[in-house]
Amino acid sequence: MQFLAESLIQLITQTSTNLPPDVRAAMGDAVATETPNTQASQALNIIASNIDMAYGDEGAICQDTGMPTFIVHTPVGVNQLDMARAIREAVREATRRGKLRPNSVDSLTGKNSGDNLGPETPVTHFEQWEEDEIEVKLLLKGGGCENKNIQYSLPANLDHLGRADRDLEGVRKCLLHAVWQAQGQGCAPGAIGVCIGSDRAHGYMVAKMQLFRTLDDVNPDPRLAKLEGEIMDEANRLGVGAMGFGGKVSLIGCKVAAANRLPASFFVSVAYDCWAFRRLGVRLDASTGAITKWLYRDPEAPVQKMAASSGFPLTGREIALRAPLSEEQVRALKVGDVVLVSGECFTGRDAVHHYLMQHEPPVDMHGAVLYHCGPVMLKSGDAWQVKAAGPTTSIREEPYEATVLERYGVRAVIGKGGMGAKTSAALQKFGAVYLNAIGGAAQYYARNVKKVLGVNLLELGIPEAMWHLEIEDFAAIVTMDAHGNSLHSEVEQRTGEQLAALQKA
Ligand code: SF4
Repeated sequence: MQFLAESLIQLITQTSTNLPPDVRAAMGDAVATETPNTQASQALNIIASNIDMAYGDEGAICQDTGMPTFIVHTPVGVNQLDMARAIREAVREATRRGKLRPNSVDSLTGKNSGDNLGPETPVTHFEQWEEDEIEVKLLLKGGGCENKNIQYSLPANLDHLGRADRDLEGVRKCLLHAVWQAQGQGCAPGAIGVCIGSDRAHGYMVAKMQLFRTLDDVNPDPRLAKLEGEIMDEANRLGVGAMGFGGKVSLIGCKVAAANRLPASFFVSVAYDCWAFRRLGVRLDASTGAITKWLYRDPEAPVQKMAASSGFPLTGREIALRAPLSEEQVRALKVGDVVLVSGECFTGRDAVHHYLMQHEPPVDMHGAVLYHCGPVMLKSGDAWQVKAAGPTTSIREEPYEATVLERYGVRAVIGKGGMGAKTSAALQKFGAVYLNAIGGAAQYYARNVKKVLGVNLLELGIPEAMWHLEIEDFAAIVTMDAHGNSLHSEVEQRTGEQLAALQKA
């Protein structure tokens, strides 16, 4: 199959850089529905620009290119071992080209394999079928939304909703709860794939498989179609909004399957995917490996531009900040302020935070801006280039951040999804702020990086290293200030009350 390798690289590249039309349409509706000039609409405008930029430059839509999950159907006679080898080689090559971030780490040592390969990575499922062609579908689902997957074992008591029984009403409560608990941490607006029934392991698999349905299809089971419609309506009345900023659009898709179960078990498994819902597929000629057809795409329909204007609509009320920051500067900020940050910032996520618990930082961090980001970087000669650089989910650093703020004098943390009570107290005590950037807007923010000034801790792997980036006019919203205020707590409380109201309705 002389064209197989290039066909698979094309599939990975297109999946990583160009959202399918049904997701584009849903995000277009979200932009049109959201109230203009709100934080949620600003977030959606940045997302729309980011989608255009990724398509235009064939760059990763989000820096977290996720766990590649391939679903392969082959006719009788195709060697599946050869196919598996070809998929692994394509993943390696797409990583080398910067279309996938090196995302695969040894679970015991934390060492990044550097090429997205390793035990059980990529995830590949094979099935035989009676058609003549090969079909390969691919889902790239990042860690932020993967962490918001949730499984319920009914009956259960749910926050704000009370008891969920073993019936469709109980399932409805679980699905509303699933959207609510994700808040902005899974980069809302998201979509959920759901499995009612099965066992724990297969239930999650069936739920994930629902993400291969198009967002605009109609469930052939009228009971499930009704449930999907109700959830779309009710979840979008919760008010979580884009990035959890509060707003009208929290969910762009709900796809439900029912599987048989054991009489003793009743699981509801939910796979939460973010707005950067990267899913595509191809049909391949079984003798040459050439692409005969793209799935999820209409070859007659050209890719439409998403954004009405480019980037972030400035109002003139934005506050310009230049690092290093003073305590006075950050104490003057309050929740809701939009800031444009310039100067040097340092990236740091899970491994850097862990490192800082036991070691002094490799740089002076007093007054620093710490960016929760695991970028896609490529080396060209001796110089590093930023290929994608959006924020990662900050809540993972909650156990460490207060210590980092106290010990090292960091004045601003940029991330997404917000942080918890311990960090909020530290922001107040030591004089610092949390700035929410727009999750997944990896191309948009990569353009705010003017230069890579250096790197430390590269031995932790490219995404986990501490990169020194010179940024310019990096747009973010103050969502936790130095006075104890948190937009995230406010939205969680408000949407919890709305959840309770849906229970009574
Ligand atoms: S958009 Fe957000 S949740 Fe989705 S992969 Fe990117 S960072 Fe993760």
